[in-house]
Amino acid sequence: MKLFLDWSSYENAGMGDAYADIPKKGGDYAKAVAVCIGSKQCEQAGKGVMCPSFRISNNPVLSPGGRVKLLKAALNSDDEAAFFNPALADAMALCVSCKGCKRECENEVDMALIKAEFLAQQAAKQGLSLRRRLWADLPKWLRWPVLKPALSWRNRSPWLAKLLEAGLGISAKVRLPVPAKRPFQYPAGFKQALKTENIDKQVVLFVDTFNHYFNPEAAEAAQKLLTAAGYQVHVAMPSADDEPERPLCCGRTYFSNGRLDRARDEARRLLKVLEPHVQAGYSIVGLEPSCILSLRDEYLKLGLGEPAQKLAAKVFLLEEFIVKEQTAQRWTLKFQTLSGVPRLLLHGHCHQKAVGAIKSVRKLLKQVPGLDFELIEASCCGMAGNFGVEAEHYAHSQAMAELALFPALRAEPGALLVSNGFSCQQQIENGGFGKPLHLAEVLCLALPSSE
Ligand code: SF4
Ligand code: SF4
Repeated sequence: MKLFLDWSSYENAGMGDAYADIPKKGGDYAKAVAVCIGSKQCEQAGKGVMCPSFRISNNPVLSPGGRVKLLKAALNSDDEAAFFNPALADAMALCVSCKGCKRECENEVDMALIKAEFLAQQAAKQGLSLRRRLWADLPKWLRWPVLKPALSWRNRSPWLAKLLEAGLGISAKVRLPVPAKRPFQYPAGFKQALKTENIDKQVVLFVDTFNHYFNPEAAEAAQKLLTAAGYQVHVAMPSADDEPERPLCCGRTYFSNGRLDRARDEARRLLKVLEPHVQAGYSIVGLEPSCILSLRDEYLKLGLGEPAQKLAAKVFLLEEFIVKEQTAQRWTLKFQTLSGVPRLLLHGHCHQKAVGAIKSVRKLLKQVPGLDFELIEASCCGMAGNFGVEAEHYAHSQAMAELALFPALRAEPGALLVSNGFSCQQQIENGGFGKPLHLAEVLCLALPSSE
């Protein structure tokens, strides 16, 4: 079995353990699957945020351990087709890659990563559906000026929405996100602005595809905030010799849809741009959890070598960076009262929660004088990239949102909503609760008035 991801970190997993039950096919991938010891902890009601597909269905097959059982059976089968059997494909399709299992399972089963390899195997064997191609190529489509009016038209036109549902399986019940009036604007002169002295007060901001096209206000807010705190902000930009007009992208949509070759290409392009900054000692800061954290996680499985490892050590979500800088006493800026905000509700992105970054968000919100806020105890919002937009997954997506997120939002209609994930923002807005702000925007509102 030719593997598409680098599973060598599992090389020694289960070795010497007579009970590890490592499947006979799949090499180190099979070892990653076999780290599950079948304890069924993931099937216990009320345990942490794991696993939204199990929680809404109560079906053990849709728990991390249930998926492991199906994967093991397929990897033990002599029939090649077993790996692509419909029961396994359906169970994997309902995994929203939230990484809840990686964080909460006692053996850190990484089903999101296992699913990425599964999708790549599936794509190699069966090809990609048109819909999956569309999702994967989103960064490409976003450069088309006609996309924005086309999406607006689709959202206004019920018959067009139904046509797209019938033809492509894109749910007619969901409003599709429409790009902002103008995308994020790269500043001029970035290259000349780099300095080798005072590195601690300089930072590189990587603006991901989602914030670049859909939410440039968040990227601008991050720039303003970091600048107000005394940092020189360098925005990472495409190289002059590598499609300078095409915004940088981490490759997330390709990774999530089984196009690991394209994900690797995007990762290499981004790495080429960021590598000199990493070598020079700059921190790399970003906003979208699923994109930024992929630079610390998924990139290490793409076979990108030492540059990716060095990058991983220097990449931070904005909230992590600020807290790190406060701890080092380099960030001295104090936040001010948020006037007209009696209450704030915070929804964490699954990947933020998986790495514990939500603690940093809470720590920062606590520094806003008089702010009454609460973290919604919820697992995945249910949107999970393209999952909640797919017709056959719409009901599952809504059921996930109804587990805790939507009831909490309904209970406090006057609260200001904060969520850093683009998917989460879409799910919340589509649920009729208004568009949440990114933390960068909230902290910008809490800047001293002279800033
Ligand atoms: S995935 Fe983790 S919690 Fe679930 S059965 Fe396997 S080892 Fe136990
Ligand atoms: S990644 Fe999330 S949805 Fe998938 S198996 Fe793990 S906990 Fe369940």
